[in-house]
Amino acid sequence: MRILTLLIAGLIGAAVLPGTAHAAPVPTGKAALTKNPLYKTGEFDWTECKELDRRPDNLDTYRIYLDHLLDCLNRSWGEEFKQAGLPFSKPTVRYITKSVATGCGKYPINYAAGLYCPANKTMWVAISKWQLADPTEFTLFNVIAHEYGHYAQHRAGILGQAMRMQKKASKAKQYAIQRQVELQAECFASAFIGSVWHSLGRDQFDYEDLMDMTIGDVLHGKTKNIHYWMKRGWNGNGPKACNTFIAPARLLT
Ligand SMILES: [Zn+2]
Repeated sequence: MRILTLLIAGLIGAAVLPGTAHAAPVPTGKAALTKNPLYKTGEFDWTECKELDRRPDNLDTYRIYLDHLLDCLNRSWGEEFKQAGLPFSKPTVRYITKSVATGCGKYPINYAAGLYCPANKTMWVAISKWQLADPTEFTLFNVIAHEYGHYAQHRAGILGQAMRMQKKASKAKQYAIQRQVELQAECFASAFIGSVWHSLGRDQFDYEDLMDMTIGDVLHGKTKNIHYWMKRGWNGNGPKACNTFIAPARLLT
């Protein structure tokens, strides 16, 4: 059975607060979450992103496939950051096939399919055996888009502020903030996927399969809420659709 949580593990407690090397315009305080300049940008401008061919059990073709998606993400998000007046640079990404030290603890290979580590600003994307065996699979696309969503949150001041608030909060409140972070990253991922969908040559079933495989937990939200934010991002085509920090509580459980 191909059940997969496509989200991030271990941010709470595991993450070290990033340095303060950002340029001045990056927002801080509660406004970084609720009124971030990213929400004022339009839809993703670039609507083309071909998926390159992969070959079964050929890791190099998977790396090339993911690198190309990364180029698309850099281009699309770079433009949003420009519109938002925020500084931007490309993330560091590592593709892994086994458990490794990430800078945010050992990669929990049995749990998560991807992880963003704020301490070294690195996205970790795990490629599993079943994904390697099936070059038509669509889940890696979502993993890299989701982890990129965390990178965007980090660059925009969202992640830093969320982590600062978590430090002083009760366990329940820490989880609640984490769900806002995760649901937003999932919304960002779907906003990107939706924006380039017509260029991918896939049909609706691929996206429905992706939704079926995305299941919730206490850190990422209930399945129905993850699906809500996925659809919302998909329909919105840009980060403006994804302000989980002003959403009603019922959409954040
Ligand atoms: Zn995540």
